[in-house]
Amino acid sequence: MSANDAGFKAALEEAKASASEGGVPIGACLVDANGKILGRGHNMRVQKGSATLHGETSALENAGRLPASAYKGSTMYTTLSPCDMCTGACILYKVSRVVMGENNTFVGGEEYLKQRGIEVVNLHSAECEQLMKNFIQKHPEDWYEDIGEDK
Ligand SMILES: [Zn+2]
Repeated sequence: MSANDAGFKAALEEAKASASEGGVPIGACLVDANGKILGRGHNMRVQKGSATLHGETSALENAGRLPASAYKGSTMYTTLSPCDMCTGACILYKVSRVVMGENNTFVGGEEYLKQRGIEVVNLHSAECEQLMKNFIQKHPEDWYEDIGEDK
């Protein structure tokens, strides 16, 4: 697992696309056991007024309805440590691995993922962290809303 993986590159592109749309710059990409991209997406809270479309849930949504077998051995790449909702979605569909860009901005359900037998990898990406820094500096209220905090 590295920052050169196609899945991570796609997730980072998605995060940048969200930033350019004025949205929360978090992207994700779901890749199957054979390395094929099943779906990719980014946080759509600002763009769509959505309560549930985070990076990871957008990627799952864009992958569409799939049989359980499609998630076997899959990897969810995400630019930021997954929140409780996205952690739950990864557990529900039994993805095998979660690869995150960073967790300095926010630590989500990493321990819970590990407890449920899901491999967790942190790529310590300075680029992902910088995207979040820029966003939070400009729109702190949108960020706290995203993680369900009053601020
Ligand atoms: Zn989330």
